[in-house]
Amino acid sequence: MNAQKYIENDPVIKKIADKQETAWVNPYLQPFAMTDAVCQLVVSDADIEDAENRLARFASFIRKCFPETEETGGLIESPLAEIPVMQKALEEKGFRIPGKLLLKMDSHLAIAGSVKARGGIYEVLKHAEDLALASGKFTLEDDYARLADEDMKEFFGRYTVQVGSTGNLGLSIGITSAALGFKVKVHMSADAKQWKKDLLRSKGVEVIEYADDYSKAVAEGRKLSDLDPMSYFVDDEKSVNLFLGYAVAAGRLKKQLDEKGITVDEKHPLIVYIPAGVGGAPGGVAYGLKRIFKDNVHCFFTEPTLCPSVLLGIATQEFENANVHDFGISGITEADGLACASPSGFVTRIMTNLLSGEFTIEDGKLYDHLRLLYESENIQIEPSSCASFAGPCGLMQYEDSREYCRTHGLTEDVLANAAQIAWATGGRLVPEENRREYLETYL
Ligand SMILES: *Cc1c(COP(=O)(O)O)cnc(C)c1O
Repeated sequence: MNAQKYIENDPVIKKIADKQETAWVNPYLQPFAMTDAVCQLVVSDADIEDAENRLARFASFIRKCFPETEETGGLIESPLAEIPVMQKALEEKGFRIPGKLLLKMDSHLAIAGSVKARGGIYEVLKHAEDLALASGKFTLEDDYARLADEDMKEFFGRYTVQVGSTGNLGLSIGITSAALGFKVKVHMSADAKQWKKDLLRSKGVEVIEYADDYSKAVAEGRKLSDLDPMSYFVDDEKSVNLFLGYAVAAGRLKKQLDEKGITVDEKHPLIVYIPAGVGGAPGGVAYGLKRIFKDNVHCFFTEPTLCPSVLLGIATQEFENANVHDFGISGITEADGLACASPSGFVTRIMTNLLSGEFTIEDGKLYDHLRLLYESENIQIEPSSCASFAGPCGLMQYEDSREYCRTHGLTEDVLANAAQIAWATGGRLVPEENRREYLETYL
């Protein structure tokens, strides 16, 4: 791929290649109605509903295996919090944030402590259900708590689940697979934090470490899994099941907005900012949101200036063939959960006409936001998650995103009614020692 051509022809890509913070407005965005038919052919409303129903069926199993979900009846869902003190603190730093700022706290999701508790757990549960149904030991009419019985655990123990991960996906797949009784192998990239590897090993998960980056860990894991007929590979770069697990978030968010009396319509827009790694989690969530709120939701991804792979994949329309290294960018970032040098081909394609744009953020700012959120709201999230704040801070800051607002009906009076959501994607499982270290990191 000829990166130079894109750098020369597009001033925004030039800025990206220079590792400058920037707003990128997606020129391929289309009105929702124009993309609806094609999108439904790939992932339909019925597919998302099917995923919702599957998670509901599994609630009794989840509740039994993970007592922390007792309170929610086996549903894995996170709070939507208003963060007025953080909003004020950011404004005092000079960022203008119209409307109401909220935090979607997937950082605090049960079991995996990150957004991966949505897609990762869903895909493992679906695989277990498929195997159990095919075995004749289990029917759709059974109570799913039965899947936690010893004979089923023994049955699942004949099978292996494998995944390539920068950390959090491995945690989510590893913890869920181990609870079901599967053998689990997690192929970890060099970026993965030590505590994530330690936690997995403590659960009996086999962690295989690579000196290379995420794409390599995925490729190796996929290859090894394909050699074993009893092994299933969770493919973060391609999986539709992961995507569906993430997409279920949208209907749940709508319910939370309703409960808070937050209207979403033409005069009350919803603006959502989600950190992207390979694109699966933010893609699935944003796709689900577009299906519900259509043109009244504006979805932006956020990425580190040191690894803007999803942005490059869509902006160049080279999809999975785009690689940050070709643009002279290292892909090595403090945001370990976002360190994917090439994006998902599936997600960059399906989001091409739905994504509003992206904001990029320098590594040092991740820690500034981390501290500010802690000091203002007493909420601590992990550095990758903090990339989400590049969105609300950036929207009014850059000429390109202000122009987006002007051309999409987001006038000053409409923006005053907006709900802006920073999607916190991970953090609950970070050990105390690392939390303290994060609070003291200045770059
Ligand atoms: C995985 C992850 C993301 C992004 O998800 P992708 O599917 O890789 O795009 C964002 N934040 C955190 C904390 C993550 O672990």
